[in-house]
Amino acid sequence: MKVIRAKHAGACYGVQRALDMALESAKRQGPVYTLGPLIHNPGVVEDLAQRGVHVVEDVSAVDEGVIIIRSHGVTPDVRAMLDASGLEVVDATCPHVSRAQKAAAQLARGGCRVVVVGEQGHPEVEGLMACARREGAEVDVVSSPDDVPSDLFSPIGVVVQTTQRRENLDAVLGQIEENGISPQVKNTICTATTHRQDAAKQLAGKVDAMVVIGGRNSSNTTRLAEICSQECTCSYHVESVDELDSAWFESCDTVGVTAGASTPDSQIDAVVGYLESL
Ligand code: SF4
Repeated sequence: MKVIRAKHAGACYGVQRALDMALESAKRQGPVYTLGPLIHNPGVVEDLAQRGVHVVEDVSAVDEGVIIIRSHGVTPDVRAMLDASGLEVVDATCPHVSRAQKAAAQLARGGCRVVVVGEQGHPEVEGLMACARREGAEVDVVSSPDDVPSDLFSPIGVVVQTTQRRENLDAVLGQIEENGISPQVKNTICTATTHRQDAAKQLAGKVDAMVVIGGRNSSNTTRLAEICSQECTCSYHVESVDELDSAWFESCDTVGVTAGASTPDSQIDAVVGYLESL
């Protein structure tokens, strides 16, 4: 059976940077915490805990040591709370997320009602909303064209969660334009996501089965799994090699492998090694 790895797969720049910063902090003395799980990958979070990097959900739960802001970033209020806490703050916000936060604030300062295209409740989206609201803007979060409010009025500014698909942004923009509005658009989609999605789509279209590796709580991995399922009916989303079942691949000549932006290379290598051993 031929095993093909997608041209772009696995840990992106922002996730790798956050992991490196966390591991670097763990080498120093004193407790290290991340505000929420560092990445949406249970295996990696467990591994970090063994190395002394623990998850807390609230700043108030920590009274000494280092606290790490994860790649999704935080709201300005949380940032202020962290700065006032006396803890050493390591900011691992992905620079692409910081750019999206600045874009949201800029649209708001320009007098726009801000539409955030993204997943309601996602920490990155919460950060984008808060950055726009702090500048006095009214904010709507839309995850699909169906969510676009009917009472929009100009000027509208659009900013996008970095892991969104271009097709979804275009569909939302189409719906806003149907309401007679030409929005100001800050396309803040990260190319890491687009590259992984394009490579997964291309590969899934030419193999007998596809394996998508990454946390079930990772939105970018879930989106990769959706894309693969559309192209290849035998697509499997797993968090680790242990979930694979050899029976899935009995009649396959070719299997493709891809992984979300929060999946480290070691997890991809383990899956590829397993499939190659069948
Ligand atoms: S997907 Fe892009 S924006 Fe998100 S952490 Fe990775 S590099 Fe940063």
